[in-house]
Amino acid sequence: MGTQVGAEDLLLREFAMTIDGRTVTTESTAPVYNPATGGVIARVPVAAREDLDAAVGAAHRAFGVWSRLAVEERQAVVSAMGDRLEEHAESFIALLTAEQGKPRAMAEWEIYGSVAWLREIAKQALPEEVLEDGPDRRVISRHTPLGVVGAIVPWNFPLLLAVWKIAPGLVAGDTVIVKPSPFTPLCDLAFVELVQDLVPAGVLSAVSGDDDLGKWMTAHPGIAKIAFTGSTDTGKHVMASAAGTLKRITLELGGNDPAIVLSDVDPGKVAPQIFWAAFQNNAQFCNAAKRVYIHDEVYDAVRDALVAYARTVVVGNGAHADTQLGPIQNAPQFAKVQEYFDDCAANDYTFALGGAIDTDAPGWFVPVTIVDNPPEDSRLVVEEPFGPILPLLRWTDEDDVVRRANDTQWGLGATVWGADLAAVERIGRQLEAGTVWLNEVHEYSPHQVFGGHKQSGIGAENSLHGLAEYTNHQTITLNKAPDAVA
Ligand code: NAD
Repeated sequence: MGTQVGAEDLLLREFAMTIDGRTVTTESTAPVYNPATGGVIARVPVAAREDLDAAVGAAHRAFGVWSRLAVEERQAVVSAMGDRLEEHAESFIALLTAEQGKPRAMAEWEIYGSVAWLREIAKQALPEEVLEDGPDRRVISRHTPLGVVGAIVPWNFPLLLAVWKIAPGLVAGDTVIVKPSPFTPLCDLAFVELVQDLVPAGVLSAVSGDDDLGKWMTAHPGIAKIAFTGSTDTGKHVMASAAGTLKRITLELGGNDPAIVLSDVDPGKVAPQIFWAAFQNNAQFCNAAKRVYIHDEVYDAVRDALVAYARTVVVGNGAHADTQLGPIQNAPQFAKVQEYFDDCAANDYTFALGGAIDTDAPGWFVPVTIVDNPPEDSRLVVEEPFGPILPLLRWTDEDDVVRRANDTQWGLGATVWGADLAAVERIGRQLEAGTVWLNEVHEYSPHQVFGGHKQSGIGAENSLHGLAEYTNHQTITLNKAPDAVA
């Protein structure tokens, strides 16, 4: 057992919402669990509708001031939020591990990633374009902020995915209300409180609650846009509800990313990379490789190398220094993942590794599990388990594997692995996915557009395309002719 992060390292205090620049608690509270132990580590407020109304009212009042600042001033504030987070990085890493379950290396990736995103998005802007400027006429294209943005966040990367919305929203001139997942509210509440002195009251608020809160936000007439990351099913509810007030929406939803492995790989070299493509964050990753298509000529060798590597990976409490994979984040997700284990067992699919969950052990742990060539129409291949159970599939014909990879409602990410770079790129270009990684995976950047094809989402995050989604387009034309109106 390595060193354990003790409670004294956490932000030991009450967790509160932030509304109109003030911390707000509620009589009704909800528990937050450590998924590695099943124990309660904090209680958080459960917002009533009036709390949301207060946050929206404050965000509207703040919008007038915030949206009129020069973009450089807003950029400086967002960058300063990155500095502030970096100063408190150790506390946030411990807090993230405690509430989400992810081990330290992954928590560091998320917290320092949030710092980097705040600083880099703070360098972005959408300057006006002069389309025409002659003696008689000037035409300008510009972006104006939308108003109040509701940021709705899932539980797998609670802070990073909040920052992906907070940073562009604030730079664009919008005011932002963050709603964390009820399963992982602590980092988001703590972050919004931590940076309050950097912004005028009401510019950035955080409200916590149950699933009603999300519904109230998506229907709220005072909110102009919902930036949502979560499941495809919930995304459809968000879209339907937002239609009532014609809100702008950005939806980052689920995925069923294929990984295609060519016949010319070295199994020992590719296996650890495929492993982490699939199991990083305990496979609770929208962009996890969720189906691995391995060329028949190397199928057995790659499968065996994957299993051998997987046996070396330490699963446990993320607070232990040697842990590489943590638990499933919450009880409903644990029950959902269990269904895939049961389905595979009931259908006699072959487990190359794992397969049996110990439901008596504390915490929501499941073993790393690899399923050997289940049918293409099995639940494990067709659905998104969002847990550490991975199907391996055989292929021989290139056109056929491309067809199988694309035969899904989703289109978030995809990877191709092989030594013949021309073949790798040829296959990659045929894949229907927002991000296609070739011989690498999970490389993100604030300047790289990120979004889903098909039912993996609408719109995009990151890059200037993502920033533009927090704005209206506006065209201004001026007839300069001296005798035009008088
Ligand atoms: P979820 O859809 O259950 O919840 C996401 C958020 O929506 C939570 O804050 C939740 O409280 C809120 N919510 C629930 N019901 C709502 C409603 N009716 N209206 C408005 N908000 C509501 O998702 P999750 O289980 O937290 O996250 C896992 C899912 O997120 C997976 O499908 C994963 O692929 C996806 N995901 C996608 C991306 C991406 O960028 N595309 C990133 C991470 C996770």
